[in-house]
Amino acid sequence: MKTQTRAVVIGGGIAGCSTLYHLTQEGWTDVVLVERDELTSGTTWHSAAQVTNFGMTQTMVGLKTHSINLYQELRDDADYPVQYNHGDGGIRLANTEAQMDGYRHFASMARGMGVEFEVLDAEECARRHPLISTDNLLGGLWDGNDGDIDPASLCQALARRARKAGAEVYRQTNVTGLTQHKDDSWTVHTNKGDIDCEVVINACGYRVNEVGAMMGVHHPVASMEHQYFVTDEIPGIIEAGHRMPLLRCPISDYYCRQEKNGLLLGFYEQDCKTWGMDGISPDFSNDLCPDDLDRVTDVLEGAFERMPALMDVGIKNIVNGPITYTIDGAPLVGPIPGKRNAFCIIGLRAGLGEGGGHGWLLAQQIVHGEAQYDTWVIDPRRFTGHGNVELTALKAIEDYQNEFRFHFPHEHRPAGRPIKTTPLTPIMAAEGAEFTVVNGWERVEYIKPAPDFQPTLGFHFDETFDVVAGEVDVVHKAVGLCEVNGFNRIEVDGPDRAAFLDHLICGRVTKKEGKVGLGYLLNDHGCIKAEATVANLPGGPVWFGSAAAAEWHDMDWLKRHADGFDVSIRSLTNDYTILVLAGPKSRDVMSAVSRADWSKAAFPWLSVRHAFIGIAPAVVMSVSFSGEMAYEIHIPNNQLYGAYLALRAAGEAHGLKIFGARAVESMRLEKGFLHWKADQLTEFDPFETGLDRFVKMDKDDFIGKAALQKRQANGPSVKLVSLQVDSMTTPAHPGASVMLDGKVVGTVSSGDWGHRVGMNIAYAFVQPDQAAEGTALHIDMLGALVPAKVIPPAPFDPEMSLPRG
Ligand SMILES: Cc1cc2nc3c(=O)[nH]c(=O)nc-3n(C[C@H](O)[C@H](O)[C@H](O)COP(=O)(O)OP(=O)(O)OC[C@H]3O[C@@H](n4cnc5c(N)ncnc54)[C@H](O)[C@@H]3O)c2cc1C
Repeated sequence: MKTQTRAVVIGGGIAGCSTLYHLTQEGWTDVVLVERDELTSGTTWHSAAQVTNFGMTQTMVGLKTHSINLYQELRDDADYPVQYNHGDGGIRLANTEAQMDGYRHFASMARGMGVEFEVLDAEECARRHPLISTDNLLGGLWDGNDGDIDPASLCQALARRARKAGAEVYRQTNVTGLTQHKDDSWTVHTNKGDIDCEVVINACGYRVNEVGAMMGVHHPVASMEHQYFVTDEIPGIIEAGHRMPLLRCPISDYYCRQEKNGLLLGFYEQDCKTWGMDGISPDFSNDLCPDDLDRVTDVLEGAFERMPALMDVGIKNIVNGPITYTIDGAPLVGPIPGKRNAFCIIGLRAGLGEGGGHGWLLAQQIVHGEAQYDTWVIDPRRFTGHGNVELTALKAIEDYQNEFRFHFPHEHRPAGRPIKTTPLTPIMAAEGAEFTVVNGWERVEYIKPAPDFQPTLGFHFDETFDVVAGEVDVVHKAVGLCEVNGFNRIEVDGPDRAAFLDHLICGRVTKKEGKVGLGYLLNDHGCIKAEATVANLPGGPVWFGSAAAAEWHDMDWLKRHADGFDVSIRSLTNDYTILVLAGPKSRDVMSAVSRADWSKAAFPWLSVRHAFIGIAPAVVMSVSFSGEMAYEIHIPNNQLYGAYLALRAAGEAHGLKIFGARAVESMRLEKGFLHWKADQLTEFDPFETGLDRFVKMDKDDFIGKAALQKRQANGPSVKLVSLQVDSMTTPAHPGASVMLDGKVVGTVSSGDWGHRVGMNIAYAFVQPDQAAEGTALHIDMLGALVPAKVIPPAPFDPEMSLPRG
């Protein structure tokens, strides 16, 4: 066994084998995989191993396409062919129009990744799958690439190819400890001896937290028991003369695929069970949980009604095994939060279908620092301090129970709420707030017009339209108050703080005390990594502010680049909350509640100062995401309530009302303001993202400059544009394809109604030759081609006269 290598992958299931193989493909061949037992002895060996192309984001579709292409290549390898039934096709069923709309949207989104899904009516579903009835069925989504693969030979084939490229695989090698050294390298301790390495990768399936504990980390991953059975031969399958397509059913929560001449049926029962919460026996390997079909009778009935042929066949085999879930159902693939040179590929609940793609994107991140798609949807840093074991289990149960029921826009499911709140949360609830969840925080979405107000879940404008319009109107004509909790706030101090931020940011951000600026941080490839509001507090320090979700991501980036600078960096994210006061009367309210001089001359746009709000100390910034005159008031959480009361009292004379995140979304779209990870992605550089004015190529140096110069020389691959969408009924949803003459020319990144300009607005990344103002395009919205025209980036107050006051 080697004692020194570049990377050690821990775990020999699909996650580990795929990562090992892809590391060799990306150029790291001195790499090792260690497995405590034999390859595939965790969950992988008993997987139903369906491989679908379906995903709900373009990154997920893209990585699944990679799996499918790779698996076909392995199937066709004459030296070691893998058993892969590719192209049986699969149907996701639906019995509501809202589900069908979802499928139409996902088809539009996948088209942008070169993947064609078909939306079928019920009769066509039954024609393609002769065993199903059309009762209580509206139709479904057809994925022609669907199929299943033999998990054991897949992993062996990947390990075999990795070995050929120089990697080594050590079976019966149990990792017992991990030590990190001062230079951030690791020693992996095993029952067979130690291995020193640069990088460790946790691919330990349901044992993820045993290995996590060895590096002092808890991963938000929980296991559920999951069952399927295999039936005896079904005559209807033999008579059909072709393989049965796969089925996935959100109506009765099961999946089904052909296995020999019978069917394999897997269940997501409501009466489900977590597994291994209090530890896992070291002997549980190549093992299963006891069968318990009683638990799944609720879903079985639905499957029998859909496929009556099941009533006449016996069950040959039952499998009940642990399957891992995370807080939002997507896996954790990327850097381990708070650790250097440590990565994970864990929480895979569809690891056979996705594993090829996840291993690929992880290897790219390890070797090149970034993958070819933006990987935020699978980034392990997206859950911050709230990702504890109890919350994870509750969300895992909820997600398991809803396996095939995708979230509708603005849907936030109830399990594990509230997890992050402020002293104002119950006050806002008493005001009638509906909450959305942002990085665990309960954030006001809007104020309900009646306690039983319940908008219809779906893809069209709904009953919230007029509610949001009302909130925008108050902000535009008088003054509104909005709580923005969880805003990421990192204090950067020390003599080198200005030089440090200058090195990170691609533009020139003001260093003047009392001034605020906006800056963009690039990765080594010259693409957008982070966005920061830089506030130079009078007398120091600097506050680096960014999106709530970026809390761990941005901290990681800042700390990683702090070597050589005399700076201190600490998070104040959880210590303060912002109250945003916005609207033409906001200055009057500030003057009434705070003794300072709030005149334009004394405190112009883009200023920051310390002040008191009533008796509560605050840091106040004159910045605006709504496009109205506004103040961002940062208040310590323990004095938040007092400040809130003071603002409400002072605002009464001016008609102050509360507004929420939906109103903010509408207003920021009218202003051309971008959202991190919706409109700012690691796939595109600032020029492509329309942020030219925030880049100063004549600066001495900044991270990503050389790469950006090269990209600039090659010209943009896309351009972010604002579109006016010709629909009164439906917003353009992120991912929808922008079309011209039957071809995809772009992808929507954000969309909603702009209430001040009375316009349906979308942002989209489009091909540069389609980016000129006035260009007429279409968006594939829920199966219809809706006209959309390129408009100026900010249809509302483009001169920024309102925030300037
Ligand atoms: C019943 C069932 C049906 C499923 N059906 C499908 C499906 O149809 N399609 C699909 O895509 N997915 C399916 N899945 C999910 C899929 O099987 C898993 O996502 C996938 O197998 C997880 O692979 P993994 O490599 O992450 O974990 P595992 O396969 O569990 O591999 C982890 C490995 O790490 C090793 N290990 C752990 N600790 C250590 C240590 N300390 N030292 C060294 N080695 C260690 C283990 O021995 C194990 O081999 C199903 C799961 C179940 C339970």
